[in-house]
Amino acid sequence: MSDCIFCKIVGGEIPAEVVHRTDRFVAFRDISPKAPIHVLVIPVQHVASITESAALSAEARQEMPVFIAETATILGLDNSGYRVATNHGDDARQAVHHMHWHILGGDLLSESM
Ligand code: AMP
Ligand code: ZN
Repeated sequence: MSDCIFCKIVGGEIPAEVVHRTDRFVAFRDISPKAPIHVLVIPVQHVASITESAALSAEARQEMPVFIAETATILGLDNSGYRVATNHGDDARQAVHHMHWHILGGDLLSESM
């Protein structure tokens, strides 16, 4: 989508600190981190949120959790632990309407989500 900020990151039109990438997914550091380590995982294909997961290819749907876990391992979080979250819609305060998974870690996280 031409006006989507995360599609522009996929296309290299705006900069991002990419930490992991395959043909189907990109992981990059959140510009406004909510934890010492805060990385976003997005599919290369534009889908608005988790509610549109069915629009992804079977390969992408299969790869998604594996890619998220690989990214956390690359970040050195696999032993200490991490949280994975995604937001859909207004009540969840979704701000960017391109599916993304937040990986949060690097410290003891809050008890509440
Ligand atoms: P959400 O509320 O789940 O839609 O989260 C959107 C996230 O995208 C927020 O944590 C923002 O800090 C992050 N974000 C917005 N623009 C950028 C950007 N250009 N590069 C990296 N992260 C971004
Ligand atoms: Zn997009």
